[in-house]
Amino acid sequence: MPAEVTIDPARVREAVAEALVWPLERLGEFRVLRKNLDARQRVVRAVWSVEAAEHGVALPARSVEKVVFPAVPVDAVEVHIVGAGPAGLFAALQCISNGMRPIIIERGQPVRQRRRDLVQIYREHKVDPDSNYCFGEGGAGTYSDGKLYTRSHKRGDIRAALELLVQHGADRDILVEAHPHIGTNKLPGIIEAMRETILDAGGIIHFGCRLVDFKSDSGAIESVVWLDLATQHEIQARCAHLILATGHSAKDVFQLLHQKGVQLSAKPFAMGVRIEHPQTLIDQIQYHTEERGHWLPPASYRLVCQASGRGVHSFCMCPGGIIAPCATQDGEVVTNGWSPSKRNNPYANSGMVVQLEPSDWEALGYSGPLGGLHFQHAVEKSCWEAAGQTQKAPAQRLVDFLNDTPSKDLPKTSYLPGVEVVNLHEILPPLISKALREGLQTFVERMPAFLNAEAVLVAPESRTSSPVRIPRDPENLSHPQVLNLFPCGEGGGYAGGILSAALDGIRVADAIFESS
Ligand SMILES: Cc1cc2nc3c(=O)[nH]c(=O)nc-3n(C[C@H](O)[C@H](O)[C@H](O)COP(=O)(O)OP(=O)(O)OC[C@H]3O[C@@H](n4cnc5c(N)ncnc54)[C@H](O)[C@@H]3O)c2cc1C
Repeated sequence: MPAEVTIDPARVREAVAEALVWPLERLGEFRVLRKNLDARQRVVRAVWSVEAAEHGVALPARSVEKVVFPAVPVDAVEVHIVGAGPAGLFAALQCISNGMRPIIIERGQPVRQRRRDLVQIYREHKVDPDSNYCFGEGGAGTYSDGKLYTRSHKRGDIRAALELLVQHGADRDILVEAHPHIGTNKLPGIIEAMRETILDAGGIIHFGCRLVDFKSDSGAIESVVWLDLATQHEIQARCAHLILATGHSAKDVFQLLHQKGVQLSAKPFAMGVRIEHPQTLIDQIQYHTEERGHWLPPASYRLVCQASGRGVHSFCMCPGGIIAPCATQDGEVVTNGWSPSKRNNPYANSGMVVQLEPSDWEALGYSGPLGGLHFQHAVEKSCWEAAGQTQKAPAQRLVDFLNDTPSKDLPKTSYLPGVEVVNLHEILPPLISKALREGLQTFVERMPAFLNAEAVLVAPESRTSSPVRIPRDPENLSHPQVLNLFPCGEGGGYAGGILSAALDGIRVADAIFESS
C-alpha cells in the first residue's frame, strides 16, 4: 500500500481486505508480522506481512513469552565474564538460564555515571580510558543508534534475542520492523533493566574493574586478576570459565593475551571516514520528493562498490543522528555515529569505509597479529595531530575531497568537539584515501544529489570491527590452546554489531554449559 495509508487504521484495514480479495465485512482481527518500506518508485510503498482472521474468528495468541530467570543455586558453576557489552550481558543472562552464576568484570561505569564521562569528552576534550563511548555498562552499543541488524540467518535465535530486549523495555515494534533500531535515549534504561535481572538472579557485577592479568597452568586459566580502579587494589579470583567479551577497542586485552603467548591472528577490517549530509537532502534523494511526509521515517541509504580493487561501503548509517567522539584514550581521534529513537536531528551521517587486508598494513611495516591494531592507532593519532591534539576531528567538504583541495571553510556539523579544516588526502594513508575518493565518485554518479555543498567528511571511522581475531575451536568455542578461555563477541572477531554480539554471547554461554 502507499506508505501514506499506514497512518489511517481504516485505510490499512481496507488494504488488508483488498490483498485477501475479501469484502471488508469478512475481515476480522489482523496483526502485523513484518513492516518494510519500498522506496524504489516515486510513490513509496509500505510492504507489510499481516496475519488475518475472518470476522468472528479469533487470531491465535502470539504474546511475547516472558523468560523467567530463576535464582542460581548457591553452589552453581561460576563463569567470569569480562565486559558488559551486548555479548557479555546476553552471555550472563544465558548463564543464569543454564543455572550458572555469571560474575561480570567491567572496566567502565554503570550507564548513568558513564554519561558524565561522555560529556567531558566534548566539553573538556578529556577521554577517560575506562569510561567513554566504547567502555562502560552496555558496551559500545549503549550510546549508539541501536540498529538491530545482523546477517545471521537463524531467525529463531534473532527473535529470542529481540524478545529479551522487549522484555527489558524495548518497544515491541522491533519485533516487526525490517530494520529495527532502539535509539540512544532508550538503550540505557534497557541495559539497567538487564542489570537488575542479572543481579536479582544472583549474578555479580563489578563495575570500575579492569582485567589486568590471568594465571594459567596446563593449558587452562586458573585465576583472573582485576584492578579495582576506585581503590587501585588488585583482586585475584579463582576462575573456572572465562568469557572474554571485551569488544574491539580493548587494545590492552589483546596485548595481555599476546604477552602471555596466547595465539591471536590478524583480521581484515575496514577504515575510512564519517560522511554527513543534511537529513532533508537524504530524504529528498531516497523518497523522490521535496518534503518527506510525516508518515515516512527519516531516510537511510546503503552504498557498496569496488574501487581500486577493494570494497568501499557505507557503514552504520545514522539517519537523524550525531557523529560521536569514540576515542578510548587521549592522543587519538575516533568517530562513530548515533541517533535518538525518533532520529530527529537535522543531520544524516554514515561511515564510508574501505576494506583492508592484513597484507595492506604489513606492506606499511605493521606486522604480526597486532599489526592491524598498531596501524589503526597510527591513523587515529595522525587525525588527532592534524586537528590540533584535542578531540576535534579533521574534516573536509566532500566536493573538495573529490577535487583534492583543502576546504576554505566547513559547514556546521553534528560532531560536538568541533572540526578542523584539513586535506584528508594528506592525513589518511593513500591506500584508503584513493579508494575512498574513487568509491565516493561512484556513489555520486549513482546519486548525483549526494554531492552537495553541505556534505562533509569527518575522520577517521576506524573501529568498524576488530583488526585482531582470538581463535576458537568451532565445536566447543574455546580457545584452542587455553581450554577454559571463551573469546566472544566483536573483540574476538565473532560479531559485527549489537545483535550478532548478543547472539554470540548466548552461544558461548551454551557452549560452557554443555562442556561443564
Ligand atoms: C557510537 C557507536 C554506535 C554504534 N551503533 C551501532 C548500531 O546502531 N548497531 C549495531 O549493531 N552496532 C553499533 N555499534 C557497534 C556495537 O556497539 C558493537 O558491535 C557491540 O557493542 C559489540 O558488542 P561486544 O559486547 O562484543 O563489545 P562491546 O560492546 O565493545 O563491549 C565490550 C565491553 O568490555 C569492556 N572491557 C574492555 N576491556 C576490559 C577489561 N580489560 N576489563 C574489563 N572490561 C573491559 C568495555 O568497557 C565494554 O563495556 C556502534 C558502536 C558505537 C561506538
